[in-house]
Amino acid sequence: MTERNSLAAMEARAPASANGDAPIPFANPFAQYETYRTEINAAIQSVLEKGHYILGENVAAFEHELSAYLGVENTIGVANGTDALVLALKGLQIGAGDEVIIPSMTAVATAAAVTLTGATPVFADIDPATYNIDPEQVEKRITRKTRALIPVHMYGQTADMASLKAISNKHGIPIIEDACQAHGARYKDGTAGTLGDAGCFSFYFTKNLGAYGEAGMVITDDEKIADRVQLYRNHGHRSKFEHAVMGYNGRLDEIQAAILRIKLKYLDENNQKRRVRAAVYHSLLNDTPLSLPAEAEERTHVYHLYVVRSDRRDGLLEYLSGNGIGVGIHYRTPIHLQEALAPFGFKEGNFPKAEAACREILSLPMYPELSEEDQIYIAERIKEFCSKGKI
Ligand SMILES: *Cc1c(COP(=O)(O)O)cnc(C)c1O
Repeated sequence: MTERNSLAAMEARAPASANGDAPIPFANPFAQYETYRTEINAAIQSVLEKGHYILGENVAAFEHELSAYLGVENTIGVANGTDALVLALKGLQIGAGDEVIIPSMTAVATAAAVTLTGATPVFADIDPATYNIDPEQVEKRITRKTRALIPVHMYGQTADMASLKAISNKHGIPIIEDACQAHGARYKDGTAGTLGDAGCFSFYFTKNLGAYGEAGMVITDDEKIADRVQLYRNHGHRSKFEHAVMGYNGRLDEIQAAILRIKLKYLDENNQKRRVRAAVYHSLLNDTPLSLPAEAEERTHVYHLYVVRSDRRDGLLEYLSGNGIGVGIHYRTPIHLQEALAPFGFKEGNFPKAEAACREILSLPMYPELSEEDQIYIAERIKEFCSKGKI
């Protein structure tokens, strides 16, 4: 079990509150299944009855429907978000000897994908106002070996794409967007994933667009990238007996695609519900000492996570969990300080903004089905903690 899996499991099951109220989960994927149960059950059954289970008509239809939703030429369904990143990098022919710039605060998968291709991840610090990669820091990290920039649209809000694109154009370095937390997020008149040279999605079950197993997608308007991703996801098959490259098994299955076709229809509506929940948190918590998420100009945040900041984070976390509120930390340790990265020799202080954020951030429960009543309960417990002089 990966660290994130066990974390997700813990987060989903907060301890029962002392006052006997039902615990409020951190995430609630089952609630969405209940809403669309009839449609989803029928879709799964129809796949089972057809007898074709991998890369079939539902994958093709989901790719087509996502293309239309995003207004992008090529969509290639893959096995998960990590594979989407690996395959997009391979689509750009990136590998050993190349450097790829990524934020120092993101899911470990962003860095893992780079290392899986043989390339070297190079970290850039974040802009603490949005937790997204800081374009000024990116420019400082560019060398002759830099072959791609991977901004991660953290928590559901896009990075500063205008500045990143200016850097990308100036140095001729392509952008791969890690849009795994930002399905449907908008930047000016574009949508997350369509703003660079290629975009990557995960449909892990807690994401804004979530399957009930593993799934991912690479999207791009570039035919060459699309062609290579298509080859690499399925053992290099050009046709049945022709293998153009040494590929990989990064295939998407029919059941997940059939489920995602249904969920995609309701994505905007569910993102809007998340935005309403965020506005409610904002009005309830505005007069507390917590820093609340900031929406940068010309961006529509889709609140994959609602992340607050407190210099007494660990005490607050304990207090809220003790009161039956599921909370999370995304993430507790910046990637450069993880044991897995030890060979790179990073030290505390290398990326101070990411390090400070990791000490202070706390993710509150956030999902479209979260009730206002639960949000009021959460806000009351937060205020209680603050008024006890613990913050
Ligand atoms: C979830 C996530 C991934 C990885 O997706 P998987 O489907 O779990 O492989 C990559 N990057 C970010 C930012 C994520 O949130």
